[in-house]
Amino acid sequence: MPRILSSDSQEIPFRKRSVKGVDLFVVASSVEVIAEEADGSAALDRETMGLMIGRIYKDEEGAYAVMHRTVTSDLVADATHVRFDPESMEELIDGVDAMADDERIIGWYHSHLDYGVFMSETDVRTQHSLFGEGMGFALVIDPLRGEFAVFDNSETPQKVRMIIME
Ligand SMILES: [Zn+2]
Repeated sequence: MPRILSSDSQEIPFRKRSVKGVDLFVVASSVEVIAEEADGSAALDRETMGLMIGRIYKDEEGAYAVMHRTVTSDLVADATHVRFDPESMEELIDGVDAMADDERIIGWYHSHLDYGVFMSETDVRTQHSLFGEGMGFALVIDPLRGEFAVFDNSETPQKVRMIIME
């Protein structure tokens, strides 16, 4: 599975965040990719899923993340379930391996088809198994309702504010 942030010993660079109190910034094009994937999958009556790739910085407030791209692979999906296709794990790992030294998996995303945006029990388990005690975000999008939200990695994941940057 992807490298787990909490076990990552690499030094986190200092860079002041542009908006106080926000722990997640995303480059607009990366969130557009997620929305397009979610729409395309919804047209096939399927959920979508992938990993959020970005960088981690810190300032006086602590650590925060900036997502600039996503990575995914073929999926095994229907209208209520989604997972990475084990047959194409290699594709996913290639995408992860192509990360620059300072890039990290900062989160994962998946879609819900017209049942709203929340973290199911399975979603919470996935979140905790991916990120352990470290920083990691879960973006949930419902393309049919036109809703999305991002959740943190606390025991009961809470919604966080996300700032979209050009
Ligand atoms: Zn879900």
